[in-house]
Amino acid sequence: MPDKMETIVSLCKRRGFVFPSSEIYGGLANAWDYGPLGVELKNNIKQAWWSRFVHRRDDVVGLDAALLMNPKVWEASGHLQHFTDPLVDCKKCKQRFRADHIVPATSAKPDLGKQVEPPKGKAVCPNCGGELTAVRQFNLMLKTFLGPVEDSGSSVYFRPETAQAMFVDFKQVQAVTRKKLPFGIAQVGKAFRNEITPGNFIFRTREFEQMEIEFFVRENEWEWWFEHWLSEMKGWLKFLGVAETDLNFREIPDGERAHYSKRTIDIDYHYPFGSKELYGLAYRTDFDLQRHAEVSGADLRYTDPQSGEKFFPHVIEPTWGVDRSVLVTLLSAYAEEGSGDKKRVVLKLPKTLAPYRVAVFPLLANKPELTKLAREIYDDLRKTFNVAWDDRGNIGKRYLSQDEIGTPACITVDFDSLKDGAVTVRDRDTTKQERVKIGELIEYLIKL
Ligand SMILES: [Zn+2]
Repeated sequence: MPDKMETIVSLCKRRGFVFPSSEIYGGLANAWDYGPLGVELKNNIKQAWWSRFVHRRDDVVGLDAALLMNPKVWEASGHLQHFTDPLVDCKKCKQRFRADHIVPATSAKPDLGKQVEPPKGKAVCPNCGGELTAVRQFNLMLKTFLGPVEDSGSSVYFRPETAQAMFVDFKQVQAVTRKKLPFGIAQVGKAFRNEITPGNFIFRTREFEQMEIEFFVRENEWEWWFEHWLSEMKGWLKFLGVAETDLNFREIPDGERAHYSKRTIDIDYHYPFGSKELYGLAYRTDFDLQRHAEVSGADLRYTDPQSGEKFFPHVIEPTWGVDRSVLVTLLSAYAEEGSGDKKRVVLKLPKTLAPYRVAVFPLLANKPELTKLAREIYDDLRKTFNVAWDDRGNIGKRYLSQDEIGTPACITVDFDSLKDGAVTVRDRDTTKQERVKIGELIEYLIKL
């Protein structure tokens, strides 16, 4: 499949997973809306993550912090000073580029988003060949103003990551939950980065969503917990249906990590547009709590309940991008099977993540007795699952339509159903059909 990315983008638009934002006004560059099916898939991913890493563990608690925080947070975290990309402008056509995208990378962490051949000799504009300005540092935080006056005193930033709230609220959360080390704080939420060159569909956007955990440990146990979270992240990727061969666990060498991190692994995925970052795992030492204590004056140390000793906990930080999770789940699930008349496109999504868990059809739309029974089943199942209804065209076309959006099972109510109280259930992956008693449907679908 040479154009797998195009195929996915077009499927997403056609079926209402993801489409360009505010399209009737010409859209907004790299802003995307999740449609009726996309929001279900995305919510299912977030809920599965929350259930797996918060509800099913007794050492992680949740948080939902404000997007706008006191600007001092970003001073303490280093984002105001260091969260920058090198930027150049073309003097002729006025286009902007990331300097490390058009000249051989000099930055610590080259990210060759859209690969452009490094020009020989002096770098010129890849667009028109014009002369470029000197490199300037461009801060990636999205700035806005609070209140009616637009001056520097009212400027605030949309958070560029969810992480800082977990550090700033550490004392609060620990006090109200009485959690002892080791324990973590989890958060799912939006973050914003004013990227110079976003792109590749929902891979890199200026507004995106993160799932993050800051896991607080004692310094002497960080290595064990680092391995633990690496293995948890692997388990999650398996759950999403991502093949191990599509992944690359990249150990970030000394000198390329953030200065405070003693170990970082980037989990890269082989996207159709190249091998690029999907998730990250970092050991951040006690840098963040120390910094916030220093700048705010608050005592953010943890008191050992036995010895009474006070110290700054160390932090292991696993980070998952929500939008990238959606993208790799779709890429991993997409399959084309058969040929000619038998050809079908099927999204083999993990069954609990599929936008609809099941679809219900009356065999024929113009037979009121079939429609009535099918409608009753549909209404009943909707108390437990998100259920699709379709009575257009023939059954074969309805199957194909549900396969394409990943619905794990299709239920058909036929004339026999009126007599034997059973329906035909057709499986998405095997296309095999089975008769199931109407009263046993919920149990059957849960087992599936
Ligand atoms: Zn130019």
